[in-house]
Amino acid sequence: MTLATTHEPATDLGFLLHKHPDRVQVFQQSFGNVTVFYPEATEARCTVALMLEVDPVRLARSRAKNTPDFSLAQYVNDRSYAASSLLAVAMADVFSTARSGRCDARQELADSVIPLEIVLPVLPCRGGADIAHRLFEPLGWVVDAEPIPLDDAFPDWGHSRYVRLRLSGLVRLADALNQLYVLLPVLDESKHYWQGPDEVDKLMRSGQGWLASHPDVNLIMQRYLGRHGELTRAALARLAELGDDVEEAIEPAADEELRQPKQQRLSLSQERHEAVHRVLLDLRARSVIDLGCGTGQFLDRLIMSPQFTRIAGSDVSTRSLRNAARRLHLDRMSERQSARVSLFHGALTYEDERYAGFDAAVLMEVVEHVDPSRLVALEHVVFGAAQPGAVVVTTPNRECNALYDGLVGMRHPDHRFEWTRQEFADWSDRVAVTYGYVVERRGVGDLDATLGTPTQMAIFERKGGGR
Ligand code: SAH
Repeated sequence: MTLATTHEPATDLGFLLHKHPDRVQVFQQSFGNVTVFYPEATEARCTVALMLEVDPVRLARSRAKNTPDFSLAQYVNDRSYAASSLLAVAMADVFSTARSGRCDARQELADSVIPLEIVLPVLPCRGGADIAHRLFEPLGWVVDAEPIPLDDAFPDWGHSRYVRLRLSGLVRLADALNQLYVLLPVLDESKHYWQGPDEVDKLMRSGQGWLASHPDVNLIMQRYLGRHGELTRAALARLAELGDDVEEAIEPAADEELRQPKQQRLSLSQERHEAVHRVLLDLRARSVIDLGCGTGQFLDRLIMSPQFTRIAGSDVSTRSLRNAARRLHLDRMSERQSARVSLFHGALTYEDERYAGFDAAVLMEVVEHVDPSRLVALEHVVFGAAQPGAVVVTTPNRECNALYDGLVGMRHPDHRFEWTRQEFADWSDRVAVTYGYVVERRGVGDLDATLGTPTQMAIFERKGGGR
């Protein structure tokens, strides 16, 4: 993280932070070392850099007593590379006096708003770039949150959950540091093992003067306190006691709105979701199953359409299902919603009666993950045994791979094959004839005159209608 000011003489930043601009200082944390230094220190502009080097082994040890997590993820994770809640903790420690707003040498300056610019090159941002705007803008920051692609080489994989965040504004330094201390963990995806009753105290102290009046105070508390309803209620009650205007109870929906992305140019996966969604609406399907639902992005979208009265998702990966459950907030759903939405674990190559009884089934970007030798089994399970009224299949069009810069193999390392348009046509025609469906094919994504569209879609409808 870097923090810069242009308030002259800018080198006074050293007084405010209680760190001399000429020195490089290293501070030990239980999870690594943090180095404070000044890449530039002139009268006109002064920048302090906080560099945290997380030691994964130390991190795992410091946590081991609090968590029963013995997995490799303890050692292999993004903590060394991203501005996480760990950075917030390190920053809070190293700049603790500055956070308190005390500065004997320059008290007046410490009390004043000054021009500040903060840059976090890689910040996990749960809920996308929008949430960074939503959290920082009400505090007077101009926010520039640039989503970082998952992989530069594969633009249609979309964005990662990281953004490059740049904040600029006229803010009191102590407020800026306290806001980061609270909001970095709020944006971060990771769990907070360190929660205890004193977390509420910390939140109250750091939130003084800005938190209670924040339009998203509920969301901030829920996330900061890791959805511990108990702690959140305690914190809200205490804020209310402080005479601040907080009357709303915990609002489970607060997070929901965030998940509707602002309209930008749609990524291919968004276009795919939109196309399949439209087809399901046109088919007038009421019950839908998303086979190989992955982390539930498409289910999340279906839930918004009241036309769908029963929605299910299945996948062979329990990890994906866990993420899907989290994304859909299955644990916090109303009774009505949880009667409407279900997730289950299963392989598509084995018959399972839970696949049956749906107006429509979706196989979105799934068939190409199945070994060619097992594909016949999947066809039988879906079209022969479950027999939904309609099946919507999407899969890559290999011909378009020529348009992906630098792509040599397939679009995803787990793909077992990728079909040309002819191969997909042959496959879908054969399946339709074998199982008594009529099939129609469409393209999804930008059409290239000779190569077709990057995604191909087939819509199967069971002959004789009767679902
Ligand atoms: N449909 C989602 C996910 C596509 S990725 C989307 O469009 O975003 C492919 C998914 O298929 C993965 O989640 C993978 O776990 C699942 N999958 C692969 N083989 C499977 C099988 N035999 N049975 C069930 N799911 C399978």
